[in-house]
Amino acid sequence: MQGKLQQSYRVAREIERNALFEGRIALSQLPGLRDLLLDDAVADPVSVRFEFRRTPWGARSIRGHIEGRLPMTCERCLQPMELPVDQDFELLIDAREEDDRSGLEVIRSDDGWLDLYALVEEELMLGLPLIRRHDDVDCNRYWKPSADTGEAEAENDNPFAALAALKGKL
Ligand SMILES: [Zn+2]
Repeated sequence: MQGKLQQSYRVAREIERNALFEGRIALSQLPGLRDLLLDDAVADPVSVRFEFRRTPWGARSIRGHIEGRLPMTCERCLQPMELPVDQDFELLIDAREEDDRSGLEVIRSDDGWLDLYALVEEELMLGLPLIRRHDDVDCNRYWKPSADTGEAEAENDNPFAALAALKGKL
């Protein structure tokens, strides 16, 4: 099952046959993400593979993996960059309250239909780092972190350090 993915899947049927899918989604199909992207016209589609399954305790779930590169603007040097994406996800579909003990996020179907594009878009947005910039800390030689907050601290994905760094610049 390669190639193009559908946008919508009928949950009951796909769970029943434990369906596996693999394919690519153009970034132009993810309108919510587009505003964050530099230029989706030249971007490669993201690769997605996923399965509909029952969890060991019988809840319906969709589990998969997203891979790709998102073209963005580096917040340090304002030049283009590609943010690599390589993330797993698992969501319970229309879970009842007693399924919540799993700690997994829940996604609601639309009358039994699941919108895959919306799911992928949401997962990608949740997976974005708070501050998006080149791995090379010297990509902007004019950019100097203030002495007490420090670049290293902000790089730790610590939202408070990032916030402090931001305030320091204002
Ligand atoms: Zn940069």
